[in-house]
Amino acid sequence: MVENTQSIKRIPGYCALCRSRCGSIAVVENGRFVALEPDPSHPTGRALCAKGRAAPELVYHSDRLRYPLKRTRPKGDPDPGWQRISWDEALNLSAANLRRLADEYSPESVVFSMVSPSTSAIVDSANWIERLMRAFGSPNFCQSMELCGWGRYLATRYTYGAGVPGNYMPDLENAGCILFWGYNPNLARLDHAVTTVAALKRGARLIVVDPRRIGLAKKADLWLQVRPGSDGALALGIAHVMIERGWYDRDFIRNWTNGPLLVRSDNGRLLTGRDLSASDSAQRYVAWNEAKQRPMLFDPALGSYDGDNTELALFGEFMIDTLHGTVGCRPVFDLTAEVCGRNTPERVETICGVGRDQVESAARMLWEARPVAYYAWSGVEMQTNATQIARAIGQLYALTGNLDAPGGNVLFPSVPTKDVVGRELLSTEQAARTLGLPELPLGPARWQHVTSEELYRGILEQQPYAVRGLVGFGANLLLSHADSGRGREALAGLDFYVHADLFMNPTAELADIVLPVTSAFESEGLKIGFEVSQEAQSLVQLRQRVVEPQGEARSDIEIVFDLANHLGLGAHFWDGDVDAGYRYQLEPSGVSLDTLRQNPRGVRVPLQTRHRKFAEQRNGIAQGFDTPTRKIELYSETLLEHGYPPLPAYEEPLISPLSRPELTQRYPLILTCAKNTLFCETQQRALPSLRRHAPDPEVELHPAVAAERGISPGDWVSIETPEGSVRARARLDDTLKPNVVCGQHGWWQPCPEIGAPGYDAFGPDGANFNLIIGHEAIDPISGSVPHRAYLCQIRRVD
Ligand code: SF4
Repeated sequence: MVENTQSIKRIPGYCALCRSRCGSIAVVENGRFVALEPDPSHPTGRALCAKGRAAPELVYHSDRLRYPLKRTRPKGDPDPGWQRISWDEALNLSAANLRRLADEYSPESVVFSMVSPSTSAIVDSANWIERLMRAFGSPNFCQSMELCGWGRYLATRYTYGAGVPGNYMPDLENAGCILFWGYNPNLARLDHAVTTVAALKRGARLIVVDPRRIGLAKKADLWLQVRPGSDGALALGIAHVMIERGWYDRDFIRNWTNGPLLVRSDNGRLLTGRDLSASDSAQRYVAWNEAKQRPMLFDPALGSYDGDNTELALFGEFMIDTLHGTVGCRPVFDLTAEVCGRNTPERVETICGVGRDQVESAARMLWEARPVAYYAWSGVEMQTNATQIARAIGQLYALTGNLDAPGGNVLFPSVPTKDVVGRELLSTEQAARTLGLPELPLGPARWQHVTSEELYRGILEQQPYAVRGLVGFGANLLLSHADSGRGREALAGLDFYVHADLFMNPTAELADIVLPVTSAFESEGLKIGFEVSQEAQSLVQLRQRVVEPQGEARSDIEIVFDLANHLGLGAHFWDGDVDAGYRYQLEPSGVSLDTLRQNPRGVRVPLQTRHRKFAEQRNGIAQGFDTPTRKIELYSETLLEHGYPPLPAYEEPLISPLSRPELTQRYPLILTCAKNTLFCETQQRALPSLRRHAPDPEVELHPAVAAERGISPGDWVSIETPEGSVRARARLDDTLKPNVVCGQHGWWQPCPEIGAPGYDAFGPDGANFNLIIGHEAIDPISGSVPHRAYLCQIRRVD
């Protein structure tokens, strides 16, 4: 497979730099990695972006960390006094300190952090990092879930019992209508962009919801220019039109959602069999049979009603005789329609800035161009109402009836493997000590994800207990999370911090030990399935090492296994043998590690997609969904029990002109942010070929807003919020709403080759966007922070 023409090698693999994992060919000339090209034979290999093409610059960059380093001066000293040490010393020191913290305090006093797998190659080792954390005894995994992933993987579990659309991926190849919400696949998942363009050519319709007209929004049939953070009202408004017009799949709603179940008007609880009879179960739910004018019981354990469910009422109010008197009850769907009905197209126009005719058109398109496949991303996740937005979009999607149907959002099959995240290594008692669980019991902590604020509070305020140690795998927390000043204070207060990364950065600078990490091109990586389709899922590939590691850099996975050995946890890590770990993981797949090494293009394991798996019967019982009612929960008693709205509700962003009118005189503009297509989050600004095209941080604003302030294109401006100010160059964009401006995060790194400066991460002359975003206004369920909807003022600086 590997072509070897004299001194030129072409090595098949995939670019691991972001979530797209594009199939690629690495070109190595005379032992030097010189180019990365697309591999059209790979299921995700039709295109590469500029970041992928710049991979050789990343590999050979002179600022790469090449040796383990030890701090020799106190934190706070402008010179950390980094001293090169051996791997043995680095691992011994790290293990000794971590073990000391676990023994003197507790294992949970050590938090493990990780850069987002969506924007880095950490996916190679993410599962193994989780395993190390649990083997160590800590339940605390700080992985930015509250900012990137909450909406698509976890929030919708309260609706679907599963990650929709995170795990139920859009079947773009067969979709009739594609809905992208706060998601620009051009930079988030390139393969989705390529497939969408092909879908448009065959006639699929496209709806893009985004405050900016970027990427595929320019090709969309409908571009809904929503005010940042008001997305929930838009989703409810579109749902309202669909329900009002009858543009919804009645059978799906009746059979597979809890829409027919009756809600008591006196206490908001679902009516149960126990309410009707002392001998019946509180786990059986009641619906109303319209034809027979009597209650019917639904038993989740049997997955069925005690009668004909085609006659179940979705609307109306019914007086039900209970053990304690007559109670008025309404079907969940009737309440759903009522809540949606408060968001008329006219109201949506007022709240969201999306024209009423566009709301109507979107509803019509979603219905008439079915099947609908959708995806949503961090644009709707970095919001103080992130959970309600995810619930509202999830509810809207349920109306189409397209879940797990061809052309809808489908749970594609996976090659069978062994789970290696080590859930069995952490006791239930220890899992219950996850930071954040007392304050946000339904938030990321429920799945052992810790928000950055929970980490900082644990260090600074020792609440709910003291955090003393941090093991960091690439997370540049101070540039990617809100309130960087508080973050710096927190990290400086750690008793011990070991950080593994490619480059020194403002976060790593606060570590005690820094470990050099290989890029994805200097190390193997095992990828089991490429997610986007059945074909992609069937591919198992062991990415080859393209060139030798720089200096003494080791891959994250090697570091995990080595550190485990030094911590005395080798028994859970095959005594440090990564290959043995891979073999264990691959066992059920029938694919051997040797076969993968001999076949660098990977091995295809035949898979067959089954649709509508929720309807499959096992022992005569329909599978349904992994929710308390085994239905899609338009109405969530879990949320109700914790004091949250049981139906998706519109909540105004906590920092907005409507919710904080007192701020708007000083901060009249809505501040959102977006990633630059040339950089993954806080990375790659040191690469000349990329930085040349984006030499400075920018803020996009409407020409009228610029003119009012005497700002010309390219002027340096200050972006000011109640938390402080940073600088950026003005870029004018007349497609923006005049009251919306869009900044960028991640600016700190210099690129001396082209004379582009670095930026102070903590001062007003710098460009760290997250320095001006506060951590106090958060989503009450997930702790998500409003990076995408804040208030600001823009001024020209001289
Ligand atoms: S989109 Fe770009 S950075 Fe991401 S995997 Fe593909 S080539 Fe690499």
